Amino acid sequence: MSVKENINRFKKVIPENVSVVAVSKTKPVEDILEAYHSGHLLFGENKAQEIITKQPLLPADIQWHFIGHLQTNKVKYLAPFVSMIESVDSLKLLKEINKQAAKHNRNIDCLLQFHIASEETKFGLSMEEAEMLLDSEEFLSFKNINIAGVMGMATFTDDLTLIKKEFGHLKELFWNLKKRYFTNNDDFKEISMGMSGDYEIAIKEGSTIIRIGSAIFGKRG
Ligand SMILES: *Cc1c(COP(=O)(O)O)cnc(C)c1O
Repeated sequence: MSVKENINRFKKVIPENVSVVAVSKTKPVEDILEAYHSGHLLFGENKAQEIITKQPLLPADIQWHFIGHLQTNKVKYLAPFVSMIESVDSLKLLKEINKQAAKHNRNIDCLLQFHIASEETKFGLSMEEAEMLLDSEEFLSFKNINIAGVMGMATFTDDLTLIKKEFGHLKELFWNLKKRYFTNNDDFKEISMGMSGDYEIAIKEGSTIIRIGSAIFGKRG
């Protein structure tokens, strides 16, 4: 099926309150344009160099989510245009996002990325680390970022029970943070979880953003 057909299929099956980030990593701008011309505006990339290269070649009304590990020295290149950074995993990174967003007179939405998988390799905060970040005085001084919710990746496995448990855990972390830090803050509302292989489970567990790559653009080489 074509990119356009894949996008339209997702639009039909996904509940209205769930956003689809079309993850275009490794794919050429032509593929992104095909999705764009079928009416899709929300795209995600996981490498700084790649998003910086593609963004100027594409329509300005595309909303870009950055979803990969981000080094602080790259933030300045994303700050002029990125609409959300889903992968915030340290106070140091958040501080730099705030600083660069201020330079551009912008407010950048951020998600706190949590480590929910059993694999060692995936980035993300623990609840303790998130609390330390949110309790810090420095955090309270940031005026150019919005914490819009949480993000996580489940273990890469066929074990559906484990995936469900990990997504359930992220939802629980979301609600604990909501109660403790964001009760009167309507910006804190997103749970980004679910990819091509596990989005159905994620939606059942309360996902509000799914990040879909291969099921839209085809397998990556
Ligand atoms: C690549 C990627 C995705 C999409 O993966 P698919 O399995 O191709 O849907 C989602 N989230 C992150 C963080 C990714 O790096």
